[in-house]
Amino acid sequence: MRDNQWLRSRLDQIWSEYYPDVPKTENVIIHFSKRCRSRLGSIRLVDERVSEIRINGLLKEKDMPDIVCEAVIAHELTHYVHGFGSRRPQLYKYPHRGGVVAREMIRRGLGESHYAAKDWINTNWLEFYGEKMKQRNA
Ligand SMILES: [Zn+2]
Repeated sequence: MRDNQWLRSRLDQIWSEYYPDVPKTENVIIHFSKRCRSRLGSIRLVDERVSEIRINGLLKEKDMPDIVCEAVIAHELTHYVHGFGSRRPQLYKYPHRGGVVAREMIRRGLGESHYAAKDWINTNWLEFYGEKMKQRNA
């Protein structure tokens, strides 16, 4: 069962494995948020010290592939590294323009996750979303 503790340990794992040059801090918190259609994750600065990563509650579902969870967590961590939603120096003017997130993930060995997740999302997300919301309201 994926819960907030699971998210924390996946974040730590991804951080150690793919972002070892980035000092780890407890000031990045991560948790599941509401289920929604439009975004899978987000990061914001809560206050002077704390960055908050929120992950769409639908990623808890057991038929959601783990690689999608990994890619979404890594995507948000990449924003953190680039200085968006974090106190680190901002490296780019915009968070996504020029494919900077994908390029960073590829450079760090997460290209396969990035593309597999993108593929799964493009193919399945809307249907997955519709099914889960239908089950919930049944
Ligand atoms: Zn993003």
